[in-house]
Amino acid sequence: MIVAIDGPSGAGKSTVAKAVAKKMGFSCLDTGAMYRAVAWKALQDGVPLDDDAALGRVARENDIEFGHVAGDPVPARVFIGGEEVTQAIRTAEIDRAVSPTSAAPSVREALVEQQRRIGSAGNYVVEGRDIGTCVFPNAEVKVFLTASDEERAHRRVRQNVDRGVGSIDYDEVLADLRRRDEADSSRAASPLRAAEDAVRIDSTAHYIEEVIDQICALAAAAYVDETAETARAMTGEA
Ligand code: C5P
Repeated sequence: MIVAIDGPSGAGKSTVAKAVAKKMGFSCLDTGAMYRAVAWKALQDGVPLDDDAALGRVARENDIEFGHVAGDPVPARVFIGGEEVTQAIRTAEIDRAVSPTSAAPSVREALVEQQRRIGSAGNYVVEGRDIGTCVFPNAEVKVFLTASDEERAHRRVRQNVDRGVGSIDYDEVLADLRRRDEADSSRAASPLRAAEDAVRIDSTAHYIEEVIDQICALAAAAYVDETAETARAMTGEA
């Protein structure tokens, strides 16, 4: 079963996705980290960020892996081509490089294929920009999570302080969020938009715990439906 959580930068997707996964006992996939890892590797290898074919090769030829702490279903570490990039992909430099990288159709093709393979292996909460529209259009639960620009910038600054990496200058963070929203929404390949059947949640005026509980309730209801359907199919009932 897939719980798809899409939305713009800083809407709280990562926090919410991890918490929902833990509560539901699902695994969690951060697709933004995959685009960030490819951007990091491209910069490292001196690949021009406007060269679609070369960026596609970077995405295809370097395995992206997630590392787990024992007993935790939510991955804590990210690797590309065997190198750990957990912290390195959260810098302001990668914030800037990830938009052109993720706009490259060859990169999207390579990463979407990997995301489908990973997600089809079990119950997953998958967060990103195009999960409900493109990667898993049949996801059992689709959420489009938003918040005001200012609230998103405040949250991202707090997250960067906690992580000890990335800009902690509010104005710089706000400008970067708006720039990435614009780039993500206007690109030709899988632009950021809500799936028609997504539940829209604006987290500006809600505690994050309320949002988590709301999504868990949606996931639990979908899980019950799915289990009932499987049981009907097994017993041959209409
Ligand atoms: O979620 P996060 O802010 O880490 O994502 C970084 C960037 O990766 C986004 O700004 C977007 O350009 C790209 N992305 C994407 N499609 C996804 C996830 C992320 O294009 N499914």
